[in-house]
Amino acid sequence: MASYDVAIVGAGPAGLFAALALSGESARGRLRVIVFDSGLPASRRACPLRVTGKCAYCKPCHLLQGVGGAGTLSSGIINLRPDVGGDLDKLLGSWEEAQHLIDLVDRVFVKFGAPADRLFEPDPSRSAEMERRAVKAGAKFIPIRQRHMGTENAQRVIENMALYLEKRNIRLATLTTVRRISISGNGGFRLYTSRGEVDAATVIMAPGRSGAKWLAEQARALNVATEPGPLDVGVRIEVPYTVMEPLTSIVWDPKVIIHTKTYDDRVRTFCTNPGGFVVEEVYEKGLVGVNGETFASRRSRNTNFAFLVTIKLTDPLEDALDYGRSIARMATKLGGGRPLLQRLGDLLSGRRSTWDRIQRSVVEPTLKSVTPGDIAMALPHRVLTDILEGLERLDYLAPGVWSKHTLLYAPEVKYYSLRVKVDPKTMETSVPGLYAAGDGAGLSRGINVAAATGYLAARGVAERLGVEAVLPVEEE
Ligand SMILES: Cc1cc2nc3c(=O)[nH]c(=O)nc-3n(C[C@H](O)[C@H](O)[C@H](O)COP(=O)(O)OP(=O)(O)OC[C@H]3O[C@@H](n4cnc5c(N)ncnc54)[C@H](O)[C@@H]3O)c2cc1C
Repeated sequence: MASYDVAIVGAGPAGLFAALALSGESARGRLRVIVFDSGLPASRRACPLRVTGKCAYCKPCHLLQGVGGAGTLSSGIINLRPDVGGDLDKLLGSWEEAQHLIDLVDRVFVKFGAPADRLFEPDPSRSAEMERRAVKAGAKFIPIRQRHMGTENAQRVIENMALYLEKRNIRLATLTTVRRISISGNGGFRLYTSRGEVDAATVIMAPGRSGAKWLAEQARALNVATEPGPLDVGVRIEVPYTVMEPLTSIVWDPKVIIHTKTYDDRVRTFCTNPGGFVVEEVYEKGLVGVNGETFASRRSRNTNFAFLVTIKLTDPLEDALDYGRSIARMATKLGGGRPLLQRLGDLLSGRRSTWDRIQRSVVEPTLKSVTPGDIAMALPHRVLTDILEGLERLDYLAPGVWSKHTLLYAPEVKYYSLRVKVDPKTMETSVPGLYAAGDGAGLSRGINVAAATGYLAARGVAERLGVEAVLPVEEE
């Protein structure tokens, strides 16, 4: 049976950055490293959704699975702040250290081909003015530096990383699912994969959101300490490009956080795509939702963004994953297997949307494989109230958002589910030799922080195995 020093489950940003950090001079030739991914190499990933407008329920799902992970077929926005895409600053207890890691992650992306010139820096005076306006509206505007890879570039960047790893003898086992991990007699681990069994002295679990349920099962079986994580649930909003321009002209992907009047819940903008397209996302078979993307070279006349309510559940139902899934299930059922689409005007009038009414909207939906319907039937009352109150407030910053023409797609659910308890410096779990990183472990919510936690996990593994983990740019 093959035996490795390090087995990494998942080749998303977390897994890839862990592998990159273990491909440096110190570890090279001394560690045998394998990375498993259920999906295909980056260059062979193509989501037929964009071509046919229908989800063919590919197995594996190209949008979420494969080398590069969930962000590979996306706009590839790298948020250059540690408190966006996760809470790396809180995790590490140091803003400076966290920011340093994020900058390092960005340099690695640029080294592998992310466009060096597509760095968006908010204009300081306009940004300060927007912060003032936001305070007056009872909202918080967070200015962020961002790098925009563009959907057509992200795949190439990932492919470059994969080639680099392969040249350094790191094995990328694609189309290979790790079904189960067990602790073996010698203090290491045995991984039962779809292509056989392997042994590994250490394991980094980085399966992303598509593998969150799998990770929860492994954590339960291996007695890994966890805590309940939050859930983000809401809608994707689509408006004319000009409506969001006051915000998107300052920051490509603006973050606005609002605490709502009725429930004092947190609702926020997330993953804004100026001139972008709404896409269907299949959470799992039979559960569909939405997401968004932008291209560096192709633009629509709209801007879309997620508008999400953060929900934290307490005893007796702590499993936010299950709650989120039941919301997605209800929405999918109501939409006949497709996401729901409604005009804000119809929602406020208490009636469903129809194609006829949608066509009267000044906003032409960029996602057509939807069912015009009534999202009030699918989302909990509290979530809907939060969204409506939040949108009304957002209108102060982006006048026109609170318009009857505004389109709402549902559901958009971000399952962070359970959070694995880790040593923040090494990402080691309560089981010695077992590490966790990225979205699936509830440690990140974006490419930037997922990659940083992968790097930290590599440092933890390296320390255990007596080598050094160094990212390619640190060696130059
Ligand atoms: C459409 C879309 C657009 C996005 N756009 C952005 C963006 O612009 N900017 C941003 O910061 N974030 C974006 N995100 C979020 C971002 O992609 C994720 O936060 C990030 O990819 C998480 O990285 P990860 O490595 O933790 O997990 P993932 O990227 O999800 O990768 C996990 C990998 O593990 C594999 N896997 C899972 N289970 C197993 C198993 N048992 N065995 C083997 N392999 C397994 C999966 O196939 C997958 O490839 C987007 C997400 C989506 C879906």
